[in-house]
Amino acid sequence: MPRLLVFVEIREGRMTRPSLEALSRCREIGGTSVAAAIASDAPAACFEALARYGIEEAFVATDPVFAPGSRIPQGAPLAAALARIAEQAAPDVVVFPSGETAREILGALAVRMAAPALPDVSRFDVFEGGVEAARPVFAAGFMARVRAEGAPVLVSLRGGSYAASEYPAASPLRVRDVPFAFDEKQSRTTLRKVTAGASGGVDLAEAAVVVAAGRGVRDEQGKRLIEELAALLGAAVGASRGAIEAGLFPAASLIGQTGKTVAPDVYVAVGISGALQHVAGMADSRTVIAVNKDPDAPVFRHATYGIAGDLYEILPAWIKALKKKAAASG
Ligand SMILES: Cc1cc2nc3c(=O)[nH]c(=O)nc-3n(C[C@H](O)[C@H](O)[C@H](O)COP(=O)(O)OP(=O)(O)OC[C@H]3O[C@@H](n4cnc5c(N)ncnc54)[C@H](O)[C@@H]3O)c2cc1C
Repeated sequence: MPRLLVFVEIREGRMTRPSLEALSRCREIGGTSVAAAIASDAPAACFEALARYGIEEAFVATDPVFAPGSRIPQGAPLAAALARIAEQAAPDVVVFPSGETAREILGALAVRMAAPALPDVSRFDVFEGGVEAARPVFAAGFMARVRAEGAPVLVSLRGGSYAASEYPAASPLRVRDVPFAFDEKQSRTTLRKVTAGASGGVDLAEAAVVVAAGRGVRDEQGKRLIEELAALLGAAVGASRGAIEAGLFPAASLIGQTGKTVAPDVYVAVGISGALQHVAGMADSRTVIAVNKDPDAPVFRHATYGIAGDLYEILPAWIKALKKKAAASG
């Protein structure tokens, strides 16, 4: 059975949702031959959760450089720690949750480990000697079937491609400490400032629900409606290029080919036409609700539920209904 190693990304002390999805998929393929790779200042915080996801072995590099708020950009220490872990774990496949971290370190690790890499795949299978995967290309307009042979093969998996499912581990977690110390002098870059996230407190990549605004949201009143709806649904706020160009939403909330890729359970597209470049960033969403006053808008082709109408009438009615429901349930 090929050995699979999953890089588990930790944010604010918690394993990220895409990491849990990657763990679940690997467990499905590899059973007990799946191990977790963790680089953290306080790894023990996630041991219990790893066991809940059926993981029986974790390779752990502990160093203060990984502490939240560290002034050292994480790319260099993470790549160094994961290379050490991979040396010790000797996996056939290393799986990363796709995202900014993977984008930053996958190439560097592939070079360092002389390993083939399959970035940003939405499906993958492991066979003796390699990996076969499906990868959305040309703004998710086509799927490419790709195959890499060798050991290890590095794979980054798009969020939302598989469900994160708990599965009790049969035996207690074996923790393998991997000797690692990052010399801060090795880092040639310094983190100067972290500006506040754009999604009103809910991380776009983690969010189960996303409310995204388009150019149809044309003023402060529309922006308030989006934010109020998002707050009531516990959603993160995203935006299309059209809404960002209008100056109402920050660039960090951009979803699409040149922005973030999200795959929430529910994606609410408000006043968004559904251009290919936008759809590229939300095509894996499970349920799509589109609100657009043009019944022929392309976004309706991607919608599970479509509401053809003016957002300035629909959103207030929706918000009112949600408030009424919340009040009724105490
Ligand atoms: C190389 C490249 C990369 C790109 N990358 C991205 C990307 O990453 N993300 C992205 O989003 N775009 C990207 N774009 C831009 C993309 O092509 C579209 O121009 C953009 O997505 C349009 O944004 P929009 O849907 O908000 O605006 P529009 O296309 O102007 O659509 C606005 C929609 O709002 C509806 N509307 C208007 N008023 C109301 C109302 N009162 N109530 C309800 N509906 C209303 C209209 O019917 C219309 O459908 C990229 C383009 C290029 C060339």
